[in-house]
Amino acid sequence: MRTDENGGVAAASEHRLTGIGVSPGIAIGPAYVGERGELPVEESRISEADIEAEQGRFAEAVATSSRQLRKLRTRATALPGSAADEIAFLLDAHLAMLANSRLVRGVNQRIARDKVNAERAIQLEVEELGKIFAAMDDPYLAARIDDIRVVGARLIRNLLKKPYVAYSTLSGGEIVLAEEVTPGDTALMDPRRIGGFATEFGGPESHTAIMARALGLPSVIAVPGLLEAAKADGQVVVIDGGAGLVILDPSTATIEHYRARREELAREKRLLSRMRRLAPVTRDGIEIELEANLELPVELDLAVANGAMGLGLVRTEFLYMNREDLPGEDEQYEFFASLLRGMAGKPVTLRTLDVGGDKLPEALAGYAAADTANPALGLRAIRLSLRERKLLDTQLAAMLRAAAEGPVRILLPMISTLDELRRVREALEQVARRLRRRGIKLPDALPPLGAMIEVPAAALAADALAGEADFFSIGTNDLIQYTLAIDRTDEEMAPLYNPLHPAVLRLIQFAIEAAARRQIPVGVCGEMAGDPRYAALLLGLGLRELSMAPRRIPRVKQRIRCLDMVAATRRAQAIMDQADSGRIAALLDDFNAMAEPL
Ligand code: PEP
Ligand code: MG
Repeated sequence: MRTDENGGVAAASEHRLTGIGVSPGIAIGPAYVGERGELPVEESRISEADIEAEQGRFAEAVATSSRQLRKLRTRATALPGSAADEIAFLLDAHLAMLANSRLVRGVNQRIARDKVNAERAIQLEVEELGKIFAAMDDPYLAARIDDIRVVGARLIRNLLKKPYVAYSTLSGGEIVLAEEVTPGDTALMDPRRIGGFATEFGGPESHTAIMARALGLPSVIAVPGLLEAAKADGQVVVIDGGAGLVILDPSTATIEHYRARREELAREKRLLSRMRRLAPVTRDGIEIELEANLELPVELDLAVANGAMGLGLVRTEFLYMNREDLPGEDEQYEFFASLLRGMAGKPVTLRTLDVGGDKLPEALAGYAAADTANPALGLRAIRLSLRERKLLDTQLAAMLRAAAEGPVRILLPMISTLDELRRVREALEQVARRLRRRGIKLPDALPPLGAMIEVPAAALAADALAGEADFFSIGTNDLIQYTLAIDRTDEEMAPLYNPLHPAVLRLIQFAIEAAARRQIPVGVCGEMAGDPRYAALLLGLGLRELSMAPRRIPRVKQRIRCLDMVAATRRAQAIMDQADSGRIAALLDDFNAMAEPL
């Protein structure tokens, strides 16, 4: 046994893997290896005319599967010792099965000959190959049968694009171990029944990570070799979401250590809960607006419990997830109105639909293609809403009606031109007229209409936008992604995803200054706002509104209460004179280390 840097005691039998911790907390529970489950397949008949399209669907699934396998192969090189070679060998074999193999040819022939859907054709072909290999009575080939099944299951999963509904059947605090978990899958995880999750893919600021934090599910992503190391469902797993650690088959001593750590975190949380009653005010008396981001309805209570002064960002995407139809005006109105009632007169910022990129619900699959070369640069967010006006009008109508319940602000994602803002304002006025004709009473002044500043173009053109927007909300998650050309969902790129890059900070500063000149409110609602490390810098740059995951409010408040705004402003100015992000980080961390505890 040895003691590791996290204080745990590592026994020889246990298997420790590291990744990126995206949602803190300790979970101890039985493994659920969701990705291995074979999905049930239904047979459907296709017509002669549909053969080509069905083969096209299959080709797409082959391409996606190959992409996934290549990615896994790159990641496998990070594994220690011979594991890297063994896994690379295995993945190469899987990749070969997706090249012009008997499997791929066989499936295409079956689609054409038997006129069955691609999923069923794969299943039939895998069965057939299994029989042929078994008849050869060769142990090497017999082992290949399993590989073919695994590749077949991957193809079927990619064809079905289905969330792992099996999550809903879990109830014993299972730890989900998977290759990838989509934001839609995460939304299905009930934290009362699931302990946490770990995945091989994913970036720290991906929507999956944000969802995990929203739910308070301890999670670690980008863990190389996770599924290879995981043996079976039921195997005991410890997740340390803060340290980015996954421990398979922990020893008794390790379990004890993490139980104690879990207690300690619970104690810390109780202490922080005292923050709820305290104002977010700096030592020199500057009051800061601390609001909550909301991804899922369950967070409303959390926002209130953590003392949120409003909802600074309501992501409406979840309304569209895990269903086949679209939510109508009444359903959306009911939801928005419930938020306003829940916040009891405090402001609620409702953002119009922001799908595309790493969030594409099934119900909208026909509207925006997930498989375009660059979905993050494609038809997403406000671009989609403006092209599919019914989507936009339905949301605007529901938001306007909800404004009768309390102060609503309407926020537009991914604004990159003034024209987009103008067109939404026109749409808002049209929808308001239509509602009034329907006899619905609306206030004379329509709700403020704000622009997300999350595309570099919007930050650089912030002066013009500030002339017409009623407020700004800086979305640092996308702003960093688009400024640095770093995919926020890509675990390989995570080390380069740097909020302290001087280019990012200058764009944030541009937006703040433009808002100040036009005297419109400006806040930050990206993940940077919820990290106490950045509080001094953001406030020093002039921000007075921060919106974050509800659970993050107490820590950020604690940090604010230790801050002196004059000193923070001076330090921010010094930081803005730097060209090197390493120096910036050092200046910020030194400043943070000097802060006196509460
Ligand atoms: C952002 O980009 O910073 C943001 C808040 O929006 P989302 O994370 O939903 O893209
Ligand atoms: Mg964004």
